[in-house]
Amino acid sequence: MRTLPKKIDFLAAEEKWQQKWEEWGIYHFDWKNCSKSTFSIDTPPPYPSGEFHMGNVLNWVYIDIVARYKRMRGFNVHFPQGWDCHGLQIERRTENEYGIEKSGIPTAEFIRLCKRFVDKYVDIMKTAVRQLGCSNDWTMEYKTMNPDYWRRTQLSFIILYKKGYIYQGTHPVNWCPNCETAIADAEVNYESHQGDLFYIKFLLEEGGHLIVATTRPELIPACVTVAINPKDNRFRKYAGRNIVTPISRRAVKIIKDNMVDPEFGSGVVMICTFGDKADVKTVAKYKLPVTEVITKDGKMNRRAGKYEGLTLAEAKTAIADDLEKQGLMVKREPVQQEIGLCDRCGAPIEILETKQWFMRTRKLTEQVEKTANTIKWHPDYMKTRLIDWAKSLDWDWVISRQRVFGTPIPIWYCQECGEIILADEDSPPIDPKQENPNVSKCPRCNHTKFTPERDVFDTWMDSSITCAVHAGWPNVSETELRRLFPADLHASGTDIIRTWVYYLMVRHLALFNEKPYKTCLINGMVLGNDGRKMSKSLGNYIATPEVFKKYGADTSRQWAAGGGTTGSDIPFRWPDVEYAWRFLIKLWNACRFASLLLNDYEPAKKAPADLPLLDKWLLTKMDHTTVKVGEALERCQFNVVMEEIRNFTWRDLCDNYIEAAKHRLYKNEVYGEEQRRAAQYTLYTALFRVLQIFAPIAPHITEEIYQKMFAEDLKHKSIHLSSWPEVKRQEIDEEAVEKGDLLVAVIREIRREKARKRIPLNAVIKELIIYVESEEYNRVLSRNAKDISGTCRIQKIAVMPQGDNGVEVEGYPDVRFVGV
Ligand SMILES: [Zn+2]
Ligand SMILES: [Zn+2]
Repeated sequence: MRTLPKKIDFLAAEEKWQQKWEEWGIYHFDWKNCSKSTFSIDTPPPYPSGEFHMGNVLNWVYIDIVARYKRMRGFNVHFPQGWDCHGLQIERRTENEYGIEKSGIPTAEFIRLCKRFVDKYVDIMKTAVRQLGCSNDWTMEYKTMNPDYWRRTQLSFIILYKKGYIYQGTHPVNWCPNCETAIADAEVNYESHQGDLFYIKFLLEEGGHLIVATTRPELIPACVTVAINPKDNRFRKYAGRNIVTPISRRAVKIIKDNMVDPEFGSGVVMICTFGDKADVKTVAKYKLPVTEVITKDGKMNRRAGKYEGLTLAEAKTAIADDLEKQGLMVKREPVQQEIGLCDRCGAPIEILETKQWFMRTRKLTEQVEKTANTIKWHPDYMKTRLIDWAKSLDWDWVISRQRVFGTPIPIWYCQECGEIILADEDSPPIDPKQENPNVSKCPRCNHTKFTPERDVFDTWMDSSITCAVHAGWPNVSETELRRLFPADLHASGTDIIRTWVYYLMVRHLALFNEKPYKTCLINGMVLGNDGRKMSKSLGNYIATPEVFKKYGADTSRQWAAGGGTTGSDIPFRWPDVEYAWRFLIKLWNACRFASLLLNDYEPAKKAPADLPLLDKWLLTKMDHTTVKVGEALERCQFNVVMEEIRNFTWRDLCDNYIEAAKHRLYKNEVYGEEQRRAAQYTLYTALFRVLQIFAPIAPHITEEIYQKMFAEDLKHKSIHLSSWPEVKRQEIDEEAVEKGDLLVAVIREIRREKARKRIPLNAVIKELIIYVESEEYNRVLSRNAKDISGTCRIQKIAVMPQGDNGVEVEGYPDVRFVGV
């Protein structure tokens, strides 16, 4: 066996292996191999934001650990990678990057720049993913902005349309006045803000007044009714009467409705179209008129009279001032309120009634719940988050967006009668703005001119069909599709359960009447030093190069794996990274030391007969660890994997075994060749095992050591192509562990005693007597006395049944010794 060099440049080695793996193509899915079971991973195509910080690392590392483990388990692993390119944020960032405005240049030119922007940032992210050592199959790389992907998104829409899942309608939707587009419920974040609650006099037509409490006086011009609770004795009598709104001076009816909370504010509320979702419900319930006063870019419109043109914030101040002047403002008080913010830009959202395309997602809620219960979740409680989200939705999914960089909606309208013309299934990829429909005249009125749909799809329409797309849909037969679909694993973060996990579910259920994935793995968020989710906008993030350049990928991966239980948020802490780095050095040094002692070792296929207790002990511990690591990997408990591997390597192998086996390895003239071979066999076997079970987490260092020390003999092209060690729990020799633990504890205590007495570890002890009550322990220690004396340099050793003095061995109250 070759000897490992004393020093290694970990970072250079990582780069070397990344290149080699790609050259060898060892992570490619084997399309032709039908004998191996497949394991398909639905990797969420990330948004090419250009950011790759330690917060992103978690998700990638989790998936990659599973991919590597499954490969070693003998699966034909399908691990594609794509990029989710469309979206508002890309438009916005393209404008910033090139100093342009979407409205200022031709659309085609703007789209060209968006694509350029995406390509640039995909490259940046891809480099980072590679540097992290992820084992994706890059031969299957795709971008959702490419026509081939458009085709799939559009086709899925056409099929859903025909199945009755799609409709166009004029409905209130969440609207971002800053992005100037409709957005889905999933793209609205609710945050608690301190605002003002205004108490405003509304005059009753017949004289007198009621005091209405509202946080949004700027919506008074949109007030269509005033409501009270039917059980509220103070106001019950007013129901059905007319009241005049201030400012707009409109008479509206007072209604009674249980949704009014008599405890909140004055107990009298105004209903506007639309202040919030509750307003939407009330307006629909009582068939109230719709009076919208907000423009699509967030200003007051014509209906607001003299306030036209003001922003909502300006209108709030102006109207409050006017009410003050008119003596109608009774008081204002601070109040905590929930405000919906746009997920992409953070602006407060409004509710506007507009014509949009929708997918009937709510009718799937029951099926979502039923299906979620048939899926395996890591961790299990994430299932509830999906179900709760699905149940909480009161609107269908709005899938059209008023943007330009997106997959076009394959629809035209008859210019005469407005008839909707849907593209044929074989038309996509198609841009209705560039091409005409397949029909020459309107099927309803025979008119021959059509107007294209100008809206594009929500970007989630692209990315919510990946489970089927990865499996080859729509280019493959049903049987071929079923080879990889449903995906064996989908991985997401807690922040995208309501989008990715949910949309995948509804889309695949609607399209295929099938769950999208069999298992769902959810990672938590990485927290910055301020305890908040790491993000560029908060400035609390650590970019990956900062960590990669100093500590490399294997360290970062260990940090991610070991940071906390799966699904929980984990803080980024440099000491954790440094600890991981030290473990790599420890592993390297242990292997280097072993490689010196193994250089004349002829690997044996079988264990030598009658292994000494210590060797049996270590090999048993090794098997134990293997079982626990395997079980933890099956359950995606990566922190348990890390803990088991570190404990075994650091404590059992390095601190205990190597120390206690050194004398046999060094002095075969004293202890005999057989003893030496046994120790070599044990060391060789245990080291290779550590490399194997550590390989999914730290793919580079394990490959480096494997190639130098073991490849020549074991002949796997890469450690990642070796088979996961098969160990059966029931075959584990628990007795060897028990006995070995005692022996190791005695050796450790003697060495500690030397340290406590400040005697050098290699100082010779003339005579040591061990007192032990139990006959069983006596037998174990007597039989293995040579290991004790060899390790602790004892000239004469005796094991006696009685004695109540001496140093107590930790964990064994009836084992003591004297003589150090
Ligand atoms: Zn926005
Ligand atoms: Zn027509």
